[in-house]
Amino acid sequence: MALPISLINELKSTVGDQWVIIEEKAVERYLYDETAYGVRPQPVRDIVVVKPGSTEEVSEVLKLANKYKAKVYIRGGGTGLVGGAIPTKPGIVLSLERMDKVHVDSENMVAEAEAGATLGKLIEEAEKHNLMFPAHPGDEGAFIGGLIACNAGGSRAVKTGVMRNYVLGLEVVLPTGEVLKLGAKTIKNNFGYNLAHLFVGSEGVLGVVTKAYLRLYPKWSYTATIVVPFDSRVKAFKTAKKLLFSGLIPLALEYFDRRVIEASAKHLGLQWPIMEGDYFLMVILAEALEDVLFLELEYVDKAAREEGSLEPFATQRTDEQKTLLKIRSEIFTALKKDTFDILDTTVPLGSVDKFIEAVMDIERKHGVWLPVYGHVGDGNIHIHVLNYQGYTREQLIGVSEEIYEAALKLGGVITGEHGIGYIRRKYVRRLLGDVWVETMRKLKGILDPNKVLNPDKVIPEE
Ligand SMILES: Cc1cc2nc3c(=O)[nH]c(=O)nc-3n(C[C@H](O)[C@H](O)[C@H](O)COP(=O)(O)OP(=O)(O)OC[C@H]3O[C@@H](n4cnc5c(N)ncnc54)[C@H](O)[C@@H]3O)c2cc1C
Repeated sequence: MALPISLINELKSTVGDQWVIIEEKAVERYLYDETAYGVRPQPVRDIVVVKPGSTEEVSEVLKLANKYKAKVYIRGGGTGLVGGAIPTKPGIVLSLERMDKVHVDSENMVAEAEAGATLGKLIEEAEKHNLMFPAHPGDEGAFIGGLIACNAGGSRAVKTGVMRNYVLGLEVVLPTGEVLKLGAKTIKNNFGYNLAHLFVGSEGVLGVVTKAYLRLYPKWSYTATIVVPFDSRVKAFKTAKKLLFSGLIPLALEYFDRRVIEASAKHLGLQWPIMEGDYFLMVILAEALEDVLFLELEYVDKAAREEGSLEPFATQRTDEQKTLLKIRSEIFTALKKDTFDILDTTVPLGSVDKFIEAVMDIERKHGVWLPVYGHVGDGNIHIHVLNYQGYTREQLIGVSEEIYEAALKLGGVITGEHGIGYIRRKYVRRLLGDVWVETMRKLKGILDPNKVLNPDKVIPEE
């Protein structure tokens, strides 16, 4: 063990003996996240897992880390896809799992959530008060702290936005251990710089999120999911564009093709219920008034048919809607074992069709399958680079880089959801520039002078 025994003892007296884990077997589950095997960094095993039960304990742990100059890796639900939670140097893994309380302040439509609460728990607690947390970034096992640190998005971000749009206030423990309380339960707040939003999306390199005030919404009484099949990709994108530019704001607007959606349905032991067409748009509508929902359903149906769609499938039944969303959400898991890397490239709204055409050109050039699907409603497209036979690691990285170039050429970005983490640091200097890197370094230097927090993440090596 690289960490001094005196540090281990001090950690034990801070959080309690049973919350400091050293045994190799017990530590194992804190070494990985959901990053695809091809690009996942090797974890170090020389770590101690510490599970504080309060903000004060998090603060004490960080003070100890500074005293001993020990590295600290923050861990949420471990669902990240860019190696952000994987310890790559000996040190402490700080797991927030015990801090999982959620209190719903229904009067103000705000949830006060501890960082270790899962997305699933937040959704459930909000529903008990007839409120909702509409965002749905894929895996409900993600923690609130992780979702904030990654500014997660997901399929249902078109109407109400990504995590950043929900964060009204934050409690953050700075790398040196001071506790910073930011924001309020108000929708508007101009009292001082919006420091809270510096931490949203900072992937844990600037501080540990311990609590948040999150905006909730009244539960929309009426929801519907409409799946529109097409015999051509071009028609699907024309329809998507038409819907987006019509002013109708769906909760979600997703694109996928038959091959990927059937792979997911099969993985779940289900059958994709729509027999016609090879390309699909999935539109989720959510409204307070049923008449409005009906008008929107009619509009989607008409707009799609005008663009040459096949027979749309619409449902208001909760169970059917849940199943459709589940099949869509599990595409990632279904493809995971064959996946070298999963990309979350994002392009401006008007360029989604051009981007997917460019990806199809790359697919044809290499003679491989590039599963493409995603959040067409906000230009965020997922592409799996698979473990193609005969391809070296460098060649597979080359395929990803061709896709990145296609997105950049259209004014897009290489990540709209998953972040930089460990695996995308090598692109940072070239794409974000020296000034960005130096500014981040200066900020990091002010907040984390001993460089203890989340080393090897986001900021490129010196
Ligand atoms: C099946 C599946 C589907 C997914 N779909 C989506 C999707 O649609 N949209 C999307 O955006 N993402 C998606 N993701 C990615 C993932 O769920 C998000 O990145 C999520 O935000 C990570 O949360 P976590 O708690 O699991 O964080 P972890 O994986 O534990 O950590 C992620 C990063 O956040 C840091 N961190 C964790 N907790 C804190 C904290 N309290 N304070 C400061 N830093 C912290 C970690 O150090 C690490 O750098 C998906 C993942 C899976 C497995």
